[in-house]
Amino acid sequence: GAAGAARRRRTRLGVMGGTFDPVHHGHLVAASEVASLFGLDEVVFVPTGQPWQKTDHRVSPAEDRYLMTVIATASNPRFSVSRVDIDRGGPTYTIDTLRELSAERGPDTDLFFITGADVLEQIFSWQDAEGLFDLAHFIGVTRPGHQLADPGLPPGKASLVEVPAMAISSTGCRERVRHGEPVWYLVPDGIVQYINKRGLYRDTPGTGTT
Ligand code: ATP
Ligand code: MG
Repeated sequence: GAAGAARRRRTRLGVMGGTFDPVHHGHLVAASEVASLFGLDEVVFVPTGQPWQKTDHRVSPAEDRYLMTVIATASNPRFSVSRVDIDRGGPTYTIDTLRELSAERGPDTDLFFITGADVLEQIFSWQDAEGLFDLAHFIGVTRPGHQLADPGLPPGKASLVEVPAMAISSTGCRERVRHGEPVWYLVPDGIVQYINKRGLYRDTPGTGTT
């Protein structure tokens, strides 16, 4: 009944959307830090479908990005991966991600959408901000080299947090692989091995080396 529902503790679910091409320690530290600061029960990583923001490079197949995200998060009992954006297909809109996760998890779960503060500004300039705020609390994490503009976020609906500075980006990792430079310790060990096994980010696929 109503009393039972009131006693039941609400679940706090972090949602970390991204291309994850590849997933790296910046993503993992950000998720871990926000989970700690906001008392999250779980953080679900949600690799995008075909991303529409990124026209400057070919994005790796969704299944590769999905598997790398699974590999990187497998050892953390509070991290999980969702296929909702990949299985929907087409460009990913945050509102669709949040609607689907909200329906999947039910009314006793509160969503906390974690994103780079730079991405946060884009989301609210391009999409229906009011609808988004009804679905989740937004947490913008600062990343190195990004000067925070005031995104004009309504109080109580969004927070900005600083995570330990990690100058790691997927773009940087892809460049390093292309140039034959190491990505050890920028990404989890399993991701180094997966990149090599699949020959990702090289001009000629399948020529990965250890
Ligand atoms: P790319 O260089 O291709 O843009 P990326 O490193 O930004 O890749 P994404 O998959 O685009 O990785 O990022 C997913 C989310 O993680 C985004 O919200 C992004 O802002 C955030 N993010 C990326 N790198 C870091 C980092 N080093 N520290 C904190 N957050 C990060
Ligand atoms: Mg990015």
